[in-house]
This record gives sequence, C-alpha cells and structure tokens, in this order.
Amino acid sequence: MATRPTSSGNLLGMTRDALEQLALEAGQAGYRGRQLYKGIYSRREQALDNLTDLGRPFRDWLSARYRITYPETLREFVARDGAVRYLLRLEDGNAIEAVYMPEEDRTTLCLSSQVGCVADCKFCFTALLGGKRNLTTGEMVGQVLALAKAQRIPRRTRLNVVFMGMGEPLLNLAAVMRAVRILADPEGLGIPLRRITISTAGIVPRIYALAREATRPKLAVSLNASTEEQRTALMPLNRKYPLRQLLQACRSYPLAPRERLTFEYVMLDAVNDSDADAQRVSELLRGIRSKVNLIPYNPGLELPYRASPLERVLGFQKVLAERGVPVFIRVSRGQDVRAACGQLSLAGVEGQGIGVRA
Ligand code: SAH
Repeated sequence: MATRPTSSGNLLGMTRDALEQLALEAGQAGYRGRQLYKGIYSRREQALDNLTDLGRPFRDWLSARYRITYPETLREFVARDGAVRYLLRLEDGNAIEAVYMPEEDRTTLCLSSQVGCVADCKFCFTALLGGKRNLTTGEMVGQVLALAKAQRIPRRTRLNVVFMGMGEPLLNLAAVMRAVRILADPEGLGIPLRRITISTAGIVPRIYALAREATRPKLAVSLNASTEEQRTALMPLNRKYPLRQLLQACRSYPLAPRERLTFEYVMLDAVNDSDADAQRVSELLRGIRSKVNLIPYNPGLELPYRASPLERVLGFQKVLAERGVPVFIRVSRGQDVRAACGQLSLAGVEGQGIGVRA
C-alpha cells in the first residue's frame, strides 16, 4: 500500500513507491518520483524549487500542493562534551527531543519514536509525560534531516542512528520500519542497517514481528533487572511481557553471522547493581549471542533513583566478564544539559512558555 501524503501536504516520510505514484498522478513519468525521493532524502533538499532535475512543470505542480517540512528547532542545549540536545516542534504543536552526539570518526543521532511514552519505566523521565501519540515516518526521518541541517553534517559523515530517545519504538513498529527503510536505502539517507539500532523495553510480540521483517536494523533490549520481581517493580510492562518470555523471544531472534543482541542495563544504586544481580544476568543470557551495555543512570530531581558508584559498575562488569559475557560501560553524553540516556523529558520547557502542546 502506498503511503498517502499527510493532510498538511508534507512530502517528508513518503516512500519511493508513494512518490512514484505521485509523479504519475501529476501526469509525469514514474521515474520522476524516484528523482524526487533522492532529492528529499539523499541530497537533503528542502526547497522544491531546488529540485531542478524534475523539470519546471512537475516542480510547479508539487509546489502548489506540497512542501518538505522538517521538525522545527525550538531550542538547542549544547553540552560541554559536544553533544547537543534539540527540542523540536512538530506540525501539530507537540514537542519531542533528539540528540546529536559527535565523535571523532562518526556521529550518532538519538531519535524519538513517540511523543511521550506509555511504558512507564519507574526510573525514566520520559515516562513522566505519559503516552501522547506515535510519530509519523516523516517526523522520524525529519529528526535526522533537521539535525543534519542544523549541524551542517556533511553527507560523507558516518552516521549512526539509535531509536533511544522518547518513546517505545516497537509500539510504533510500522512507521519506525518505514523510517528505517528510508534511512537505510542507498538512494535515501544511505545509513547502513548495521548502524541503525532500535531499542525496546521488551514488547515481546513485536520482537517476533521484527524478526520476520526482511530489512532489519540492530536490536537492543532494555533488560535492567535480574529477576521477574525486580523487573516488574522497575518496568511495570514486565507483568504483561515477563522476563522469561522476553528472553525466549531473544533466544529465537535471528542474528547475522557475527551479530550480537545488545542488552542494556541501567545501573541503579542499591536497586539492581549487586554482584548477585550480575551473576543472575549472566545466567539469564546463557544461550543468547549477546553483549551487555551498562548504562550509568542519569538522575534528576523528579525521580528518587541514584546512579551506582563507579566501583560498583566496575564490579558488576567484572562478574559478567568473568562469566564470558561481553560487557561494556556506556559513556554518558550530554549529561549537563539533560541530553543523556533517559533524561529526555521536556523538563522545564513548559515553564519557559514553549508549550508541549499547541
Ligand atoms: N523505550 C525504549 C527506548 C527508549 S529508552 C527502551 O526502553 O529501550 C533508551 C534506554 O535508556 C533504555 O535502555 C532505558 O532503560 C534507558 N534509560 C531510561 N531512563 C534512563 C536514565 N534516567 N538514565 C540512564 N538510562 C536510562
């Protein structure tokens, strides 16, 4: 089924098929739609008038009906380490956040998949917003294009994309997958699939659905606990999708030859960070080709959790490593501007008259 244009006439998010269809509707040859697709996503053009390869009549036809609109930057917060948190306004007035993280040899963009989140993880700041709505494909691809434009990221820069911002991507799977296909397409954004990661709180049936997709990005699973009871206390969705079922889904998840499933584990002081927890995690992951990313907790005033001390994180890592589990400590970026993992919350934004809703 072709993606229909949004009522606002924004071309962003339309697939190649949909744009080819549009060209036919305009009385043009189908391949004009493919040129349009490349112009929007590969050349990152925003002005229809710059798409000179389309010919004047088609450009005029498009301009009378359509636009290419990126999410609009409301504010940017520049961290000392170079990460930049963007507060972006969507066309309906809702706001979301995306994070730009430059490194020496590549740049990582952290994207939102929903406005707010329904998962209700007790340590997460986005949970405080509740669930508002799913983002459209255009709004997700638009985050990449908006940040690329704002940061003047050259097309040759190696980009990594992680769906680890606001929202639960697997609860918006169809639109996320359409975005992934546009991002990964060499004639689209051209970001290789192995550099695109979807992170999930563990929506079990959707992990099976993702496993059936022909085009699959990398999957990261937020484990965050070592027992059913502990996980239910931290992540209430564990009641609906228990650890046991989650790990079963992970065990059957198809991996490429050298690929590993990533498990994220947020280190919460005196909650889930003991040596016994680490030992249980190593047992849970037995039989799964996996690696574990330990995420230092990023605290905030609104929630009672604290970060584990570094010695504890190292101790936890040691127990896992000794049991043969590849385990890494994730560097926290953008902490000083609340751009770090799980800190995206629009905190303080409403008070500054920016309005989360129009
Ligand atoms: N809903 C998806 C993706 C968004 S959360 C998921 O749950 O995976 C991305 C990661 O940030 C998850 O691993 C989550 O456990 C972690 N996270 C949430 N709040 C955090 C915080 N305050 N500090 C550090 N990590 C956090």
